[in-house]
Amino acid sequence: MNYHKYDVVIVGAGGAGLMSAMQLAHNTSVAVISKLYPTRSHTGAAQGGVAAALGNQEEDHWKWHMFDTVKGGDYLVDQDAAEVLTREAIDAVYDLEHWGLPFNRTEDGKIDQRRFGGHTRNFGEGPVRRSCYAADRTGHMILQTMYQQSVKNQVKFYNEYLMLDLLINDGQACGVVALCLRDGTIHTFHAKTIVFATGGYGRAWRITSNALACTGDGMAVAYRRGIPLEDMEMYQFHPTGLYKVGILLSEAARGEGAYLLNKDGERFCVRYAPTMEELAPRDMVSRFIVQEITEGRGIDGKDYVYLSVAHLGKEKIDAKLPDITDFARNYLGVEPYYEPVPIQPTAHYAMGGIPTDIEGRVIMDENNTTLPGMYAAGEVACVSVHGANRLGTNSLVDLIVFGRRAGKHIAAKWLPEADFAPLPPNPDAWATEMVESLLARASAGAKGKGETQEAIRQDLRDSMMENAGVVRDEQHLTAQMAKVAELKERWQTMRLMDTSRTFNTELMEVIELGNLIECAEATVAGALARQESRGAHYRSDFPTRDDKNFLQHTLAFRSETAGAPELRYKPVVITEFQPKERKY
Ligand SMILES: Cc1cc2nc3c(=O)[nH]c(=O)nc-3n(C[C@H](O)[C@H](O)[C@H](O)COP(=O)(O)OP(=O)(O)OC[C@H]3O[C@@H](n4cnc5c(N)ncnc54)[C@H](O)[C@@H]3O)c2cc1C
Repeated sequence: MNYHKYDVVIVGAGGAGLMSAMQLAHNTSVAVISKLYPTRSHTGAAQGGVAAALGNQEEDHWKWHMFDTVKGGDYLVDQDAAEVLTREAIDAVYDLEHWGLPFNRTEDGKIDQRRFGGHTRNFGEGPVRRSCYAADRTGHMILQTMYQQSVKNQVKFYNEYLMLDLLINDGQACGVVALCLRDGTIHTFHAKTIVFATGGYGRAWRITSNALACTGDGMAVAYRRGIPLEDMEMYQFHPTGLYKVGILLSEAARGEGAYLLNKDGERFCVRYAPTMEELAPRDMVSRFIVQEITEGRGIDGKDYVYLSVAHLGKEKIDAKLPDITDFARNYLGVEPYYEPVPIQPTAHYAMGGIPTDIEGRVIMDENNTTLPGMYAAGEVACVSVHGANRLGTNSLVDLIVFGRRAGKHIAAKWLPEADFAPLPPNPDAWATEMVESLLARASAGAKGKGETQEAIRQDLRDSMMENAGVVRDEQHLTAQMAKVAELKERWQTMRLMDTSRTFNTELMEVIELGNLIECAEATVAGALARQESRGAHYRSDFPTRDDKNFLQHTLAFRSETAGAPELRYKPVVITEFQPKERKY
């Protein structure tokens, strides 16, 4: 057995994982496991910015930011967590600045800030400049800065290791099992502490802004080991993905003044959201677009509308939006200096995930029982600061605030009293058997039998788009539950072609596909049971919010037998802001 022992094992080298590692590296043995080379993590694709009420451009307060976060999340946000997020955002951003992150600057040398959807001054009066940014490559800069610092601090990286399983023994998380992609060997990591920072699962939908690696591995592995998944039905579609490809055009464009136009050249957002216009929250703008399309005002009667930046002028476009305008040129052959860019909503962000408390500790049930030694942070986690809908630039700040808090809690509170729990017998048995049985399906005798993984993947992505997208109803969700159950079966017998143990990317993709199906199951089950419309979860058969019955978090527990997860519920933490109707 390939055996490794560390005080802390962090799975994921995106913003959340690296931020946790940064708190621990000085006097603890820390390993970071990543299926990608760290700087290829999806955090590097984040464009627009990171929210913090620094007040560098105009008056701002963390309390206003907290209010916007709670209201933006359609009141499904745990308000104790939102307070932590918005207060600590300020210090966390200064940490990044001190580590060398090259933010854009104001004339007097402070961190520059721009507008983003749903961020307002004085509890909703109008847009405020709150998002700190480095052109339209903020995430790239965050990742590069923190990776350099982690290398400097001697964090041990296991790159291109695919985590397959979580080990729990004596009521404590005590390790993970991973596949080394380079040579196909299985490795057991024994640890006092495990941190999951494995990101989201946008690849479950056909049109998505998410990178190929966003396959919900951490969520699926936890779910299989009895940890519930929280509020998975809350999945955000970003309004402005490039038509047909889904690649994101950051909300920064609208923050800088871009318009959305229908086939009549009308700025339709003004009609739906007179105060915030194009800067209403994403769930709403996505629905505005879908409504325009449904009512026949898409461009040429098709399923897209225009994003126009031309009126901003070349100079501003080049200075503030260089990358995303290049995407439009390269992928659609459109010149944004003069032409509007075809866009449609694209699957973007998981508000739900592995439930945690405000220290990043993983929660096992509706009574908030923690699993000792187990932490989660970033998009894989649900703390829940985003509730039913995340505001733009509130994810990067979630990574750095809660990645930092998890790391600090581990260092100050957990490690001083923790010990290694013994590994369970044959710790790598489950993972080894899965890998061997998949490889056996590629072996000579089995070759060519069964359908390809590509067929199953397409079916998952198309059906999720059709049945669990921006607009949902009982009929489509019921059909999708059956589809997911069917896909699970088909996954068991699909065909593999590659028997190699050296960089077998087919094997990796098949495992990832299995994880996506698990995430889809929890998403659809939660969506079917939530008979109301709230935030990103819009049910055409229940078009209003129902606080009486559904002001609560869904917890989905995987069930081996029932074919559908068991759903339980827990209350939302409300401290200051009572639920109100959302108007923008
Ligand atoms: C195109 C795009 C633009 C965005 N722009 C913004 C923005 O401007 N502002 C904002 O706030 N948010 C933005 N977001 C959202 C935000 O970027 C993400 O939510 C966030 O970066 C997720 O970070 P993370 O650290 O949780 O995970 P990621 O950065 O996705 O990293 C996941 C890590 O986990 C590892 N991993 C995953 N599975 C395994 C496994 N099985 N074994 C081993 N390792 C594994 C990966 O290798 C990777 O290192 C954007 C998202 C996208 C897709």
